[in-house]
Parts: sequence; structure tokens; C-alpha cells
Amino acid sequence: MHTFDTPWIKSTCAYCGVGCGIEAKALANGRIEVRGDASHPANLGKLCSKGLALGETVTNEGRLLTPKVNGEDCSWDSALTEVANGFLETIKQHGPDSVAFYLSGQLLTEDYYLANKLMKGFIGSANVDTNSRLCMSSSVAGHKRAFGTDTMPGCYQDLDHAELIVLVGSNLAWCHPVLFQRIKAAKAKYPQRKLVVIDPRRTASCHGADLHLAIKPGTDVMLFNGLLNYLAKQQLTDTAFIEANTQGFAQALTIAALDAPNIEHIAQVTGCSVADISAFYQLFGSTDKVVSLYSQGVNQSSQGTDKVNSIINCHLATGKIGREGACPFSITGQPNAMGGREVGGLANTLAAHLEFDSPEEHQLLSQFWQTKKLAAKPGLKAVEMFDAIRSGKIKAIWIMATNPVVSLPNSNKIKAALQNCPLVVVSDCIADTDTGRLAHVQLPAMGWAEKSGTVTNSERRISRQRRLTTSPGAARADWWIISEVAKKMGFKAAFSYRHEGEIFREHAKLTQLAHEHKQHDLDLSGLANISDAEYAEMAPQQWPVTQLQKEANTVQQRFFGDGKFFTPSTKAQFIAVHYLTSPQRLSSAYPLILNTGRIRDQWHTMTRTGLSPGLSSHQGEPLLLINPQDAQACSLSSEDIVQIDSPQGQAQMRVQINNDIKLGQLFAPIHWSDSNSSAGKVTRLTLDLTDAISGQPEMKQTPVSLKRC
Ligand code: SF4
Repeated sequence: MHTFDTPWIKSTCAYCGVGCGIEAKALANGRIEVRGDASHPANLGKLCSKGLALGETVTNEGRLLTPKVNGEDCSWDSALTEVANGFLETIKQHGPDSVAFYLSGQLLTEDYYLANKLMKGFIGSANVDTNSRLCMSSSVAGHKRAFGTDTMPGCYQDLDHAELIVLVGSNLAWCHPVLFQRIKAAKAKYPQRKLVVIDPRRTASCHGADLHLAIKPGTDVMLFNGLLNYLAKQQLTDTAFIEANTQGFAQALTIAALDAPNIEHIAQVTGCSVADISAFYQLFGSTDKVVSLYSQGVNQSSQGTDKVNSIINCHLATGKIGREGACPFSITGQPNAMGGREVGGLANTLAAHLEFDSPEEHQLLSQFWQTKKLAAKPGLKAVEMFDAIRSGKIKAIWIMATNPVVSLPNSNKIKAALQNCPLVVVSDCIADTDTGRLAHVQLPAMGWAEKSGTVTNSERRISRQRRLTTSPGAARADWWIISEVAKKMGFKAAFSYRHEGEIFREHAKLTQLAHEHKQHDLDLSGLANISDAEYAEMAPQQWPVTQLQKEANTVQQRFFGDGKFFTPSTKAQFIAVHYLTSPQRLSSAYPLILNTGRIRDQWHTMTRTGLSPGLSSHQGEPLLLINPQDAQACSLSSEDIVQIDSPQGQAQMRVQINNDIKLGQLFAPIHWSDSNSSAGKVTRLTLDLTDAISGQPEMKQTPVSLKRC
């Protein structure tokens, strides 16, 4: 039984990609007290409202307590047998590509590693994708095109040193609040530092900003092509860096100059003033230390990868990369989106940043896993995967720790697909979710406070998540559930783990072999032989972690400072990107653009943050933000309930008239589902249009119409 003198245990926040360290203590009443971990480099003791309320969300209320098959409680053995036999039978009849796993950035790295190993390595299909596809897959693709690998070049300390921070498509103040506070603290100490926000909305991140460019949705490539052209015209490029360390500058510049010949044209396309655009370009060009921090506003677009590369192009052109206070910085939405990327949680990558298109790398992984079945080609990305379920090509899916019936775009289609899928397995800690209701088999997973493993944050920092309390009912760790199913499928030798630390060591060992083979970025060789005790005590650390670094107690905070990239030529690649308008066009039937995003105190589909009365008091119901003139044109007043229609579906929300929204645009939060609102689910409206390279859906600009209910 817990007493008041239980120790403080160090762990990691359950929410965003900042990856704040927490300390937690079990209380006599069964609850958990949470405070910031002052020793954790990501947050230095600070937490935002969501992190501070973590203790309120650790409750057994609403938990899935037992395995269920077709709604009936059953033993673990029966449920695992049902899953294993269901998958085996489907594979026998229809082949390995008839099954799929859909994972989550909420999973720990060890869970992710095993799911990927089972599907790609032993089932023989790469149909394993993740909700991280909705978060930052355009950044992954952009990194790979420019750097040769999915490498985050900088670290959070760069935010302390940058003389100019450019926030692109990110409401950092609400979505990554601890980093925003860090930027504000540096700006308060050094008032000459500048903050520029590029976002169609005037958000909380604009408070204290020196400049806000309210660009029209989707025009980022035009703005950054214009910047590249300006830098070249004004001779503000770093010619020595370009010549020594990059390729493709001339071609990228030619396209940029064609797209964005002058600031007047850029102003017309982006909707910003000539003066504001000029001010931004001058600031970027004249400032030595610039961090461009970007998030879903860039990534969630039918041109997301090009947007990422248009930003990276400007950093390469000025040599603003690999140095203190200078880098393009993709900030991830989820607590372990990065960990998933490291172990191959995306359908188009292998584990340890190995690639499908290299026969040697494929062979290396096959030998390491001792399998002859390693998938030979990339699998289906998230939206494609659910399309394949709808068309009947995929007949069995296992969804882990995520709620795609709420979070994926065009959610009516997702729901219909799962309703017709012969086998839907859902492992989750919550009993009643929109997705769980469609499951044939439900498997009770441990919640955040009960799990043990590792996560990686946006600056490549691996942190331990530690068990803080016991699990209710029959809940089990995700890695245990996956390995038990694998054993029942006949893969006992490859999945006989005693402990999550064994899985981590295997992952680290694989990165060592991969690095020895291709001399790339991800190298955890210094952690490949750690003992269980060292794993238990592991302090937060940035990768790479080599044996030499471990012995010398040194850290590589940044990549590319030596001018060497991971492309075949070792040079960074400029990518020539044309500005494209979205295929989603306004019309007389759908004359307004709907933007989507998060609110300050909620997380994803609210299954956890919704348990906190404090967090729920910020905004209690689905809302639609609208400009006063549009409200007047639609005869709407604040507090009216409005029906929103798109070609995909309809939803109802309460109107909030808001001067921060531009004319012709709307904003709605993503958090509400069929479980917590009768009609406020915003993904009923969004189209499942994706970026052709990354597969990331365009969630930020849907044409809609409005009428008062
Ligand atoms: Fe958690 Fe992110 Fe808030 Fe940090 S900033 S406390 S990781 S939600």
C-alpha cells in the first residue's frame, strides 16, 4: 500500500514532443502528485497546464480492465489466441499484405520496436504505420531529401542562443508551451532578439512577437521561395558554405525566382503586406543565428514535404545549420513520434534508419532478426491503409493506443471501413472510444503511469518513462501483448523477452550495426550493453550515444557542423520546389476555409485530458472561431450553434466570434469525438487528401459552408 513517504520517481510527460521530465509521487489516496523535474534538460523543472494536471488524469475511471472478444470478457489466453489465429488465418488465405498494424506516437520505443519487428520482420508485410503520419511525416521526408537521413540538426539550447526565431505553422504557446516560455525568457533577457510568427491565425504565440505574417493557408512555399530569391539577390547567401557543402542551389534558386519574382507578387499570393514580407526577409538575411521552428501548419498539407524543403533551402543558402542558435527545427506533436521514427514505425522505413531501397541494409536487418521473411517493399501509409481496409484488401487490423475514427481525416469513411473489416483488434487503456466500439477484440493496455520504457523528444533526447503505479484489472504492457501474440503465431524464439530493457538493448545493438555499415546519424552503441540496473537508472540523453561519448561523458548536440551530410555525396541537397495551390478549391457551395488545430488544455481525442476538471474548464464544448464580418454575413452571433458542411460530411459547433481569424477563414479544434459530443467531430469535415511524398493528410484547409441550426 502506498504511503505519504513514497519516493519521487523521475519519468516523462505523456503529451507533446517537448518531452518534459516530471517527478511523480504516489499519494495515500491512490492519486499521483506530479511536479517538473529540474534536472531534465528539456524543461529544467517547468511544466505546462497539461503536464501539471497529469496527476488528475491517473484514475481507473473509464479503463478497459479485461480482454474482450465480441464484447464478452475473456481470459488473456483466449484473447491472444483469437488475435493470433485471426491474423494467421487471414495471412494463410490472402497473404501477408492482407493484414496491418496501426500504431501511435503514444507507444514507447520498445513497444514500437516489437510491433515493427513482428509485422515487417516475421509476418512479412510493411503494412505498419502510425498516427505520427498525421504529425510530422512531411518533416521526415523533407529531412531525407535534404540531409540523406531523417536527422534533427539542432537542440533546444539553440532556442536560448537564436537571435531570431521564426515560428512557422506552429501555435507553440499552446501546443508546446514549455518551449514557448523558454523563447520568451530568452527574449526578456535579451530584448533585441526577434520573434516572427507565420500563421494564418493570430494565435497566443503572437503575443510579444515582433512580426506576424498572416499568410493565406498553404502559401508557405511561395513565402520561402521568395526568401531564397531575396537572399540571393541581396547577396546574403553564404557562398562558401553552398559551394563546399551543398548541391542543387542553382536549380532551386531558378525555380524560386520563377515562382516568386518580386515581393509584390509574393504579397498578392500570400495575402501579407509588402512591408511585412520585406521586414521578415531583411531580418532573416541580416541575422546570423536563426532557428525556424515549424510544426503541423507546415506538415499537414498536400504540399507538406515541399514546404519543409523550402524552409531548409533558406537555412542551407545562408549556412544557418549545425551551429549554435542556427537550424531548421521540426517540433513533433507527440511524446514519442521520434522514437517511432528510430525503430521504423513508419510503413516506408526499416528499423534503425535502414532503408528498403538498399539490398545490403535489407540483408543486414534480416540477419540481425534471423528472419527470411523481412518485407521487401514499403507498406501502406495511414490513409492508404484505411482505404485498403475499405476496399477489402486489408482484412485484419490491429490498432494500438490510438483512436483513428476520431483523428484521421474523413472520419465517416474510416468508421465505415472498420465496420466492414472482418477482424479489428484494438489495444488501449480506455474502454469506450469511437474506435474501440468497432473492435472484435479489445486488449487492455497499461496507461501512461503504469508503463516502463523510453521515449525520444524533438531534440533527439531519449528519456525513461517509469512505472509510477500499479495497473488496474488485467492491463498489460503493449510490448508484452505484442510478444505474446507473436509467440502464439509461431515466432517464439524471436519474441521471448523478459523485460523491456532487453528490447531496448536489441534496438541499440541494431543501431550500432547499422551505423557500422552506413556511417549514418543514429548510433546508440554506447547503450547496447547496458545492464538492467543501468537501464532502470538511465538519465535523459541525446543521441547519438557512442561508447566513446559515454566514456568521455560528451554529447553531440548538433549535426552537420562539420559540413558533412548523410547523402551519397556527403553534401546537403537543395530541393527545387514549385509553389502549388491546393487541389481543395473554394466554391460558391463551400466558400470558407476551415483550419484545424489544438486548444491549450486538451490533448488529441481527450480520453486522458478530458478526465481533468481543471483542463476541461478552459473550453468545454466544440467551438468554431469565425471573423466578425463572416459571422454577420451568415447572421451568426456568438454562442449560436452552427452547422458546418463540407463535401465529406457535417458537424455542429458553438460559434465564437473572433478578431484573430481572417475574413473567409474558420478555425475548429480537433479534440471532440462521437464519445464526448453529439456532432462536434471536426474530422467528419476534413478531406483525406495527402502529400504525394510523405502521405501526410491536409488537415489545415478544408472548404466548408455554414448555416445556423
Ligand atoms: Fe508535457 Fe508538452 Fe506541457 Fe511539457 S510542454 S509539460 S511535454 S504537454
